[in-house]
Order: sequence, then C-alpha cells, then structure tokens
Amino acid sequence: MMQIARNAVAAFHYTLTDDQDQVIDSSAGRDPLTYLHGSGQIVPGLEKQMEGRSTGDKFSAEVTPEEGYGVHQSELMQEVPRDAFQGVEDIQPGMQFQGRGPQGEINVTVTKVEDDKVFVDGNHPLAGKTLYFAIEVTDVREASAEELEHGHVHGTGGHQH
Ligand code: ZN
Repeated sequence: MMQIARNAVAAFHYTLTDDQDQVIDSSAGRDPLTYLHGSGQIVPGLEKQMEGRSTGDKFSAEVTPEEGYGVHQSELMQEVPRDAFQGVEDIQPGMQFQGRGPQGEINVTVTKVEDDKVFVDGNHPLAGKTLYFAIEVTDVREASAEELEHGHVHGTGGHQH
C-alpha cells in the first residue's frame, strides 16, 4: 500500500479541536481535504505527522503553535484611531479589515472598540493555540507530472483547470 511521502497526493478527513475539547473545524459532511505532500499546504506539524501513513490509517496529531499557526505576537495587536476607518459607520468586535503589518498586508480582527479607539489583532485566529487533530487518511496516490509542476492538486478537492 502506498505511503504518504514527498510528492504524494493525500486525502484525509479531520476534526480539529483545541485544548478545551472544543471543535474548531471539521471536514465531517464535506469532501476530505486533499493536498500535495511536502508543499506546505497544511500546517507543518500536521504535514510531518502525515508522513508514512497510508489509506485507512486513523490517528491523533498534536501540533504546537510553533508548528501550527504560529505563536501569538503581541506586536500585531494595535490600537488604531477611529478616524483610520473612514467610511465604516459601525465598527464592531469581530469585524475584519486589511491592515499593514511588519511584513506587509495582514488581516486584522477588531477585538474591542472604546470611544475613538479601535483595538485590532493581526494574529491568525489560531495563533498561540495547540491544535489537536483526529485524522483519517482516505486516499494516497502519486502526484501527476503536471501537479508537481504546478505545485498543487488537480481534480477532486483540488484545482479545476
Ligand atoms: Zn494546476
């Protein structure tokens, strides 16, 4: 049976929970997630633990923030004057905007609004979190030459072109 290795295309079902056992995301009821192994399309800590698995394998994978969505960076939390949001009438916590971060454009989420001050957080919503995946591998195959050239999967669960 083929094992997941560099340049394999693998499909898997997953349930992602946090350390409070809350489900953050799941592929249940959807198509499995398909990716090209070794191309960085899934978080590094999970990609590492997919290595060597084959169709039918079920396992749990714990992924640290460093190998997940990154550690929480306090410098990405900023206080912005209300005036910076011209044209937006009603700013509410949870709203997302494009902002400027140390490495260029980032998505920021409003965390709090206080009078003429808006507090935004440019961290990924899952930054700083340990991720707990329950994985079931549903398919493993060789990538086609064209998929390797494009660096992504074609067909079901991938690019249609
Ligand atoms: Zn392509």
